[in-house]
Amino acid sequence: MSSPASKRRLVAGNWKMNLDLDAGLALARECAAALSPVGFPVVLCAPAIHLAPLREIVGESTDLALGAQDLSRHESGAHTGEVSGAQLRSAGCDYVIVGHSERRADHVEAGAVLREKVDRALAVGLRPIYCFGETLEQRDADEVEKVVADQLAEGLSHLDGDAFGRVVLAYEPVWAIGTGRTASPEQAQEVHAFVREWVGRRFGGTRAEHVSILYGGSVKPGNAAELFGQADIDGGLIGGASLRAADVLAIVGAFV
Ligand code: PEP
Repeated sequence: MSSPASKRRLVAGNWKMNLDLDAGLALARECAAALSPVGFPVVLCAPAIHLAPLREIVGESTDLALGAQDLSRHESGAHTGEVSGAQLRSAGCDYVIVGHSERRADHVEAGAVLREKVDRALAVGLRPIYCFGETLEQRDADEVEKVVADQLAEGLSHLDGDAFGRVVLAYEPVWAIGTGRTASPEQAQEVHAFVREWVGRRFGGTRAEHVSILYGGSVKPGNAAELFGQADIDGGLIGGASLRAADVLAIVGAFV
């Protein structure tokens, strides 16, 4: 369990706007009870309103951690409906998703907004799970590497090495999210290897060796082991399958 590759492991569930509070608490309790120590973080990215009540359940588990799905680009003040990084931290979060394709699409998030969110997260001790990935049209036009490099650069290029060392990356091809269509292990590995190279060029070999690069896009118990078996895939960001404890445990179990 102590090679750089095994230290990079992480599985995060993105509940999105699903589960009422009771169902969320029940799911977390089921995961906490059944998860024997696995030695890497299993992050529950819950709706903001569920975070504080989940804190105690997650706190009692060795491996579970709490994540938010978004944070405000602002520090505090008159921003109705927004939730700040400091508020997420005070509710028990260690992680926050930034730049998910649904926010890029629904809220037109890009460029400066993503940089500010990454900076806000890091400033309060949250680890950003930074998402990026191409659409089907971009893949068909052979633009995967360009799109991925541009999206990495727009949100992360301004960081210094120490700050980057706190970031988790999540490659999520848009065409595979919530569609039941998964990138093949070879397709995903090809992009992950490119991402690690990009990190090496921008932040150096040690950062490239240590950064966790998750794959997201219709990961399920049936395909997790093959995906996680690829050299540069360090875990998963899981949407639909994170809503059932049995699936979460099976996906985590694909590593152990
Ligand atoms: C996601 O939304 O990050 C995701 C990967 O969703 P799904 O697993 O449902 O494709």
